Amino acid sequence: MYTDAGLSEEIVALGERIEKECQEEFRRIDRIAEKNAMKVIAAMRKNRLQEAHFQPSSGYGYNDLGRETLEKVYADVFHTEAALVRPQITCGTHALSTALFASVRPGDEILSPVGKPYDTLEEVIGIRPSKGSLAEWGVTYREVALKEDGSFDYDAIASAVNPRTRLAEIQRSKGYLARKSFSPEEIGELIRFLKSLKSDIIVMVDNCYGEFVCETEPSDFGADLTVGSLIKNPGGGLAESGGYVAGRKDLVEECAFRLTAPGLGAEVGANLGQLKTMFQGLFFAPTVTAAAVRTAVFAAHLYEALGFRTFPAAGEERTDIVEAVSLESPERLKAFCKGIQQASPVDSFVTPEPWDMPGYEDPVIMAAGTFVSGASIELSADGPLRPPYNVYFQGGLTYPHGKYGILSSADALYAAGLVKLPLL
Ligand SMILES: *Cc1c(COP(=O)(O)O)cnc(C)c1O
Repeated sequence: MYTDAGLSEEIVALGERIEKECQEEFRRIDRIAEKNAMKVIAAMRKNRLQEAHFQPSSGYGYNDLGRETLEKVYADVFHTEAALVRPQITCGTHALSTALFASVRPGDEILSPVGKPYDTLEEVIGIRPSKGSLAEWGVTYREVALKEDGSFDYDAIASAVNPRTRLAEIQRSKGYLARKSFSPEEIGELIRFLKSLKSDIIVMVDNCYGEFVCETEPSDFGADLTVGSLIKNPGGGLAESGGYVAGRKDLVEECAFRLTAPGLGAEVGANLGQLKTMFQGLFFAPTVTAAAVRTAVFAAHLYEALGFRTFPAAGEERTDIVEAVSLESPERLKAFCKGIQQASPVDSFVTPEPWDMPGYEDPVIMAAGTFVSGASIELSADGPLRPPYNVYFQGGLTYPHGKYGILSSADALYAAGLVKLPLL
């Protein structure tokens, strides 16, 4: 069937061999999905989810029972006091920006103890000068790089924390960096350390791409705010838009005041008919996330067999759905994305080209043939056009599609003479 779809026999044969190596890891992934599915179902049962909760609301959206139930379900899934989950949160950056602006005041300082934050946050914080940034509001920023071996630099963090440090932002996933992603336990260790330095520091975790990959979340280890996007893992591929903030009640309330208006907070915000897909997406999220992690594992094994460096490496523990491969040339990066695009259910006939995306410093190439525009829980690949030409890819709503996409990417490299096959 893969050769019928145009892939070369050599790549298909390699893929079949590689898949056998993955079985042990696949079993572990499926076990985690089972536990997370039970966590989600338990939260829905506890909150007596019912058909009436799917009713659309319009206008102000006062007394929206479905919306309130969705937020209670999220709070229970993340084991937090409260959650804000809205289609009006337009993307992950918006959710993170809302939480940052809500938590600090002029004169405060934000600390990133894990090195550079996600590219789009550079403009939110004002690391790159930008209109409306936190810097313009008199909020300063400091960052502490990770140590050479990728671990936290506790000494440097201790000297960076000062009386103005109001919030620490910890990014769980590597983003566009060649570092490792952190597990909830590792994040918990860092949170304990930060709180020992300054007990009232607010710890916010950028949980994008991390949800449901492990049995726990950063909120189980003391994160005050856990933030993410619904067109990534927790939307399960069904949510059409939205983001979430889960955490301490007082801080989530501040986020609601920031998202809507002081005084209004979480009381307004029509659900616009999005609730059923938001609930159902959350219901699917554990198994959809597992499909994405399986895809990443398959890709790591395949690309290592082809001689590339992968992050995480085959067999390494995973804490997010992102896989990166150092392709070492712009031609390979473009071919990889072309292969992913060709295997997509939507827009399979287009060829991705690099462009200057808003919020990113270098031109970025992206492959995404998705049902929800730009959704990266669906199989998608992207990378900034800068050495070492790492491609970052994630997603796969189903494993069969993920596997096909990865085979197709390898085939695109092979067809262009950009890769040598290992001896079988
Ligand atoms: C995707 C992502 C973001 C930003 O989310 P958008 O929805 O693209 O705005 C922030 N941080 C991390 C780690 C991400 O993966």
